[in-house]
Order: sequence, then C-alpha cells, then structure tokens
Amino acid sequence: MSPTDAQHEDRSNDETQHGNDARRNAGEVPGPGDPSDGGPGVEGWGRSTRAVWSGEPERSPEGATVAPLFLGVTFGFDDLDDWRAVGAGEKPGHIYSRNTNPTVEIFERKVAALEGAERATAFATGMAAVSNTLFALLEPGHRVVSVKDTYGGTNRIFTEFLPRWTVDVVLCDTSDHDAIESAIDDGADLVYLESPTNPTLKVLDIARLAERAKDVGAIVVVDNTFATPINQRPLELGADLVLHSATKFLGGHSDAMGGVVAGAASAVEPIFRFREINGASLDAHSAFLLARGARTLELRVERQNANAMQVARFLATHPAVEAVFYPGLPDHPGHDVARRQMNGFGGVLAFSLEGGFDAMRRLLGRLRLAHRAASLGSVATLVGPPATTSHVELTAEQRAAAGIPESLVRYSVGVENGDDLVADLRAALDSL
Ligand code: PLP
Repeated sequence: MSPTDAQHEDRSNDETQHGNDARRNAGEVPGPGDPSDGGPGVEGWGRSTRAVWSGEPERSPEGATVAPLFLGVTFGFDDLDDWRAVGAGEKPGHIYSRNTNPTVEIFERKVAALEGAERATAFATGMAAVSNTLFALLEPGHRVVSVKDTYGGTNRIFTEFLPRWTVDVVLCDTSDHDAIESAIDDGADLVYLESPTNPTLKVLDIARLAERAKDVGAIVVVDNTFATPINQRPLELGADLVLHSATKFLGGHSDAMGGVVAGAASAVEPIFRFREINGASLDAHSAFLLARGARTLELRVERQNANAMQVARFLATHPAVEAVFYPGLPDHPGHDVARRQMNGFGGVLAFSLEGGFDAMRRLLGRLRLAHRAASLGSVATLVGPPATTSHVELTAEQRAAAGIPESLVRYSVGVENGDDLVADLRAALDSL
C-alpha cells in the first residue's frame, strides 16, 4: 500500500469548510514564510534558525515581533468567489479552524522544517497523531509490523483497537532485528517504529528496517518523540512519516498538549483529510505555546543531552543502582546504532534499583529536583515509574513480558544544571 492508495477520495460533504489545504502547505500555493512568495527558505539553515524563522508570517499585523494568536474559529469573506476559491484550495486562506488555522499552521511549518519534511499536520494530542495516522492509512485486512516496546497507548491501539477492524498486528521483540525483518518479509502494509523506546531506551536501526520495509512496499512510520528532530531525523533514514507527541520535547514546558505528523506532502495528505473530519485538531492556543517552545528546541535538547549523559554516568557508578538504561552509555546494547543514527542520545533515561519496588518508592520521595509526574521532555526534570505513568495501561504481567521491571524509574532530565541533578540523586541514593 502506498500513502496515496490510502487517500480518502471522498472529501468532506461540507466543502465550504476546507481551509487552505495540502496544496498550500505543500508549497504549491504561496503562504507566509514560503520561499515561493519571497519569504525565508530553510535550505542550508541550522535547526535553531529553522525553529525560530520557519513558518512565521513575513510581517505580522502592526509589525508585532510574535505572530498573533488566532483564536477565531471562523474566517470571513466579503467576496463569494474568494470564499469558494479558498474552500477549493485554489487560494491561500482559512475558513474554519477544525480544518486549518493560521497559528496551528505556524507550528506545523516549524516541525516540517525541523524534520526536513515537505508538510506536517498537527493534532490535539500525541495519541491523536498516532491513532489518526494508523486509522487514516490502514484498511481491514492490512498487516502492521511493530515492536512490543512502543508507548503504552500505542500498544493498546495495536492490541485492542486495530484487531477490531480486522487489521493484523505483529508485535516483535524490540531487541531482535532479525525477528522484525522476518515479520516484515512475511508481508506488511505498515511498519511502525519508535526509537529510543519508552521506557527502557531500546534502539531500533531505522535505516535497516526501513529498507526492508520498502522491499515489501510498506509505509514506514517512526515515533520520534524521545529523540526529537535535533537528535534524529527518521525521514533522512528512510521513513515515510515521522510523528511526535508535541506535549513532550517539542513544546518542552509541560503546559500544552499536541501531536504532529510530518513527511512528504502526498504521505501527509490522507492523514490531514482524516483529521479534518475526525476532528482531532490542535487548538490554536496550544499551538501558540507549542510554537513558542519549539523555537528553543535545540538549546533545550543540547542541555538535556548533556544532563542525561552526566546523570547516566553517575548512576552507573552508584552501588544502589542495579542497571542504567541510556543509549549514550557504551555498554548499552543499542549504543553503536544510536551513535550512527543520532546526533545526541536524548534527555530520557531509566534505571532500576537493587532494593526493588520499595527502594524505588523511597527514592522518589527523597528527590528534591524532580517533579514526580507522568510525561517527559519538560524544562523541569520529571520522574516516575512506568508502572504508574507510561505503561499504566498494561497489567503487571504485560509489563514484565515487555521487560519493564516494577522497580524501574524513568528519569527525564530538564534544563537544570547537571551538577545539581547529580547532587540531588546522590543524596537520595546514599540515604536508601
Ligand atoms: N508517543 C510517545 C513515545 C509518548 O511517550 C507519548 C506519551 O507519553 C505519546 C506518544 C502520546 O502522547 P500524548 O500524551 O501527547 O497523547
């Protein structure tokens, strides 16, 4: 199946509700910040330059430095011909915010530029990005090949919801590339990867698996939430689509939820069409916050890469720590692949404790510089056991089967000073 095969031929019954569609986002119709209308282009720009300048209007109303937040749900027209042309996608413009919205579009264009994609489309949450992508591209009878260690919510789509639509899902051992390749060889319409994985930071060789997937004509989708486009760009490694929980590093401040998928315009188009009608659109206010966060993505991620490495090295030497899971450590099984396909090893690590679940409970209570909460990728360090956060949807047996110890701590470093994080961890570990 190719992305275009899955494209929904039936457009909305209410054609008037189409905003400026794929054609504009794909650059066929000029828009603010497009090279085609004299706006800045991304060619040759570094990631921070893209994050700051991509997707911005040439000039905001009143010359405002920051583009205004468009909370308006509808966009009016005095001229019926213009209205029709925008609805038909022949002219740039917006009609109704479920379809497109200027503030959401700024965020989408930034992500597209960061991932090296032609186009991106945004969603209300990361799970909306995951589920809309899967439901837009798959049909009854299709076969998905993925791995056991995907995010807990994604895993539930694979095990609970897709089978109801008679989509066959094969979940392979994440550490066994030969098994994944052989499952792909048996036939696949879509190969879904996540790397590094949540929460044990396993690393999948994206280029190797994407190449194999191409041999059987499968679409390759990669969840790049943990890595961010600063550390890893799956489209350059052969993926067709890259998606994110923007709630995490892209936004970076734990104050807005969102999701986004990016890729070639033809690959994103059917997902955009599905999202328009399914209605899981990103709210403009959240888009404003996510775009603001995205402008500092590289600065934050560089600090988080350094902090995570410092913390992982420290933990590996502490006697109370049983194991450290971080692809930046040379003894991590995915280290060599991570070195090849990533520019940095990311801001999330995990560790288990010698004292088991009770030691983990005591440790969490004693950390002062970590918010005990779900989620990751924030400016503040977030800590939590997968058993109550990312993998709460799974039973203890299912977590054990996925190789997630009940004493595991997921530690998502913020942008604090690394020495302070180490001192905080040292004090808590020494007191166990
Ligand atoms: N993908 C990954 C890797 C995640 O960690 C998460 C959430 O933790 C999601 C997707 C879902 O994102 P959201 O919580 O924004 O729906």
